[in-house]
Amino acid sequence: MQVLVVGAGVIGLAIARAAALSGHDVTVAESTGGIANGVSSRNSEVIHAGLYYPTDTKRAVHCVRGRRMLYAFCASHGVGHRKCGKLVVATNDAELAKVETIMAQAEINGVENTEMIGGNAARDMEPELFCKGALWSPETGIIDSHGYMRALWGDLADRGGMIAFETPVEEMSYKTSQWHVRFGGREAGTIPFDAVINAAGLGAQPLARRIDGYPAEKVPRLVLGKGNYFGFAGRPVFSRLIYPTPIDGGLGVHVTLDLAGRMRFGPDVEWIEVENYAVDPQRAESFYARVRTYWPGLPDNSLVPDYSGIRPKLRGPGEGQADFMIATPADHGLPQLVNLFGIESPGLTSSLSLAEEVVGYLST
Ligand SMILES: Cc1cc2nc3c(=O)[nH]c(=O)nc-3n(C[C@H](O)[C@H](O)[C@H](O)COP(=O)(O)OP(=O)(O)OC[C@H]3O[C@@H](n4cnc5c(N)ncnc54)[C@H](O)[C@@H]3O)c2cc1C
Repeated sequence: MQVLVVGAGVIGLAIARAAALSGHDVTVAESTGGIANGVSSRNSEVIHAGLYYPTDTKRAVHCVRGRRMLYAFCASHGVGHRKCGKLVVATNDAELAKVETIMAQAEINGVENTEMIGGNAARDMEPELFCKGALWSPETGIIDSHGYMRALWGDLADRGGMIAFETPVEEMSYKTSQWHVRFGGREAGTIPFDAVINAAGLGAQPLARRIDGYPAEKVPRLVLGKGNYFGFAGRPVFSRLIYPTPIDGGLGVHVTLDLAGRMRFGPDVEWIEVENYAVDPQRAESFYARVRTYWPGLPDNSLVPDYSGIRPKLRGPGEGQADFMIATPADHGLPQLVNLFGIESPGLTSSLSLAEEVVGYLST
């Protein structure tokens, strides 16, 4: 089939690759001038183990399976990564109870090798850490996400797939057994495809609303959950990822590391109405307070505004966690069309597994 994938983020690229490997003729349309210019370039680059997500949700299933697939992909494609492990730390008794709940969920989700350890054992691993106890997750890691996305593009190109840059999809309608897709950009025009997959990230809902005949009530609300990061201006003190207990909308301001060993903190959760990526230096105050609960030695004046990313959420403050939404023909009634909504964390980790599910909906 002639398959169009909308969006060259990690999800669109993984789906395009999987579709090409299944023998489809694949085109990716991307509105910007390159791959990974959206949510995929503004995250923590963590390969999540799959600890937190409710039983049998798509996030739980794809994170655990996608993580195993991602480590294998990194090994076979030479993508930079490090299985550095992570500690989810409890600094008081109430948090200890929360961490034990996460441990129980991790076991239900089938995450390998997790264990509860005491404060002293955690400090043996990370001497600067303050905690009463922690969950140790050795399967968690970090990845060069741009290297990963370039490798996905390489596999796609090897199978004859191509990416059309600066080519926004404007609208589409289904007639005579094909999707007639109108593109804007430099080579604007209308081209027919057998199947379309909408992996447009923050643009998924606006695009779904421009699909002729798509039921309006099936387009979920898009809520913007911005996450700000602060860099650490000093020598890194941790060699593993350190996470506090989760907060409403996110996993809490954690210690993230890149492959060069640099340390930064974030993301927090800032609910916003309009897309913007500026990091307000004033937010540093709350970062100092939160980080010092588990790293009392964080020096004054050591945090510098870094970058931010926006989670494409389906639920707002206090409304609990939503699952990834994959809207198939059975859900919306239109043939050969899949829309992906709310692909926030752990989308990067889940990408290879999610891609297999999505390609499975293409019927020849
Ligand atoms: C702060 C933050 C931290 C995160 N940390 C992690 C983490 O550590 N580990 C993890 O596993 N996940 C993490 N995630 C989640 C992960 O980053 C996302 O799930 C993933 O990047 C989503 O990729 P995507 O391809 O759906 O979206 P995007 O990368 O945004 O790609 C969508 C693309 O579609 C294009 N587009 C939009 N509209 C159109 C149109 N009409 N026509 C053509 N193109 C269009 C956009 O330009 C964009 O390039 C994090 C997310 C955030 C925000």
